[in-house]
Amino acid sequence: MTNSQDLSKIARELRKELIVKHMQTKMAHIGSDFSCLNALVTLYMKVLDKDDRFVLSKGHAALALYAVLHRAGIMSDEVYGTLGQEGSMLGEHPLYGIKGIEFATGSLGHGLSLAAGMALAKKLNGEKGIVYTLLSDGECQEGSTLEAMNFIARQQLENLTCIIDANKWQAYDRTLLPADKLEKEFKGGGWEDIRQVDARKFDELQSALTDPKRRGPRLIISNSVLAMGVKEMEDQLQWHYKPPTKEQAEQFLASLDKEE
Ligand SMILES: [Mg+2]
Repeated sequence: MTNSQDLSKIARELRKELIVKHMQTKMAHIGSDFSCLNALVTLYMKVLDKDDRFVLSKGHAALALYAVLHRAGIMSDEVYGTLGQEGSMLGEHPLYGIKGIEFATGSLGHGLSLAAGMALAKKLNGEKGIVYTLLSDGECQEGSTLEAMNFIARQQLENLTCIIDANKWQAYDRTLLPADKLEKEFKGGGWEDIRQVDARKFDELQSALTDPKRRGPRLIISNSVLAMGVKEMEDQLQWHYKPPTKEQAEQFLASLDKEE
C-alpha cells in the first residue's frame, strides 16, 4: 500500500500530467481538478475496494477523474489517449459508458441524490460496501442536494460518505456556503458524523475516509483551494475557465519540478 508521501508524489505527477492535458486540449476547469485531486487520489489509491462505489457529482472536474482512473489502472492507455480527439468518449464532463464511470454528471446538484439511491439499494439488498460521492461547495445550495441530505439522514444511510470539495468558489464568484455554514447545514439536517479536513494533508483525508467508527452517514468537508498545488495558480478565478497557455504550462511544470 502507498503511504502519504507516495500519495503526494502521485498527486504531483498527475498535476503535471493535467497541466499538459489542459494546455493541449484547451479544456476548462483545471482549478476544480486541482482542488479535488488529493481527495480523488486518496480514494482511488487507498480507500475504494470492489464493493464500494463512487460518483463524481462535480462533473466539471472530469479530467482529474480520468487521470486518476488511468493511474489506478481502471482506464486504459488507449481510452485515456483519446482525450481531446474528435469522437473521444472523454468530454469535459463524464459520460455513462466509460469504464469506471457510473453516471453522467455535470448538471450540478444530482450526485448526492444518486448516491442516496445507491446506498439505500445496497442497504435493502444487504450488500457490503460504501457509496462515496464528491460534491462541489457550490452544489450544496441546490435544493436537490438539500433534499438528498435530509433523506439520507432520515434513512440513516451509514453506508454513504459525502465529500465536499470546499474550494470557496462557485463558478464566477465566492461560494454562498463556506465550510462552517456547510457543517451547520448538515448538522441541522440530522448528520452527526461530520469532519473537516485540510485537503493538502493526505493523512487527514485518509483517516476521515477510512475511520470504521461511523455514526450514520458521513460528511467530510475537504478544505481546499481552487487550483491547489501550484502556488502560482492558487485561488485565482481565471483557472475555473481558462486552460494554461504553453508558456504558462512550462512555468507551472517548472514550479512543480522545484518541489521534488
Ligand atoms: Mg467550489
